[in-house]
Amino acid sequence: MTEKYEFEEGQVWVTRQEWQAELDVKRLYLPITILADCPKCGREASRDLSEDYLSYPVIGQEESIGFDCSSEDEECCEFEVLASLEVSIKAVAYGDVTEYGEHYDDDV
Ligand SMILES: [Zn+2]
Repeated sequence: MTEKYEFEEGQVWVTRQEWQAELDVKRLYLPITILADCPKCGREASRDLSEDYLSYPVIGQEESIGFDCSSEDEECCEFEVLASLEVSIKAVAYGDVTEYGEHYDDDV
């Protein structure tokens, strides 16, 4: 799906597609911590993806991630959380701009 937006200064085309892409990464470590309240006891549980990696994640596909609300002196509950890896790209033009014909004008 391609969407075209028009602004006063120019035009922007945005291409959006529904897709899923498997990352060929056995261990994907991310600086992200997922927090979830245990549905049984309400205690907050977390999973640090910088240590507890995702294995062969698929972008755009919900996956079940195991959690436990462990505490040293109490029995913990185990539960699942649905999470999906999404990707965004930010693009900004940078650097010097050379216009076509600029060099020819300098030679004249
Ligand atoms: Zn619990």
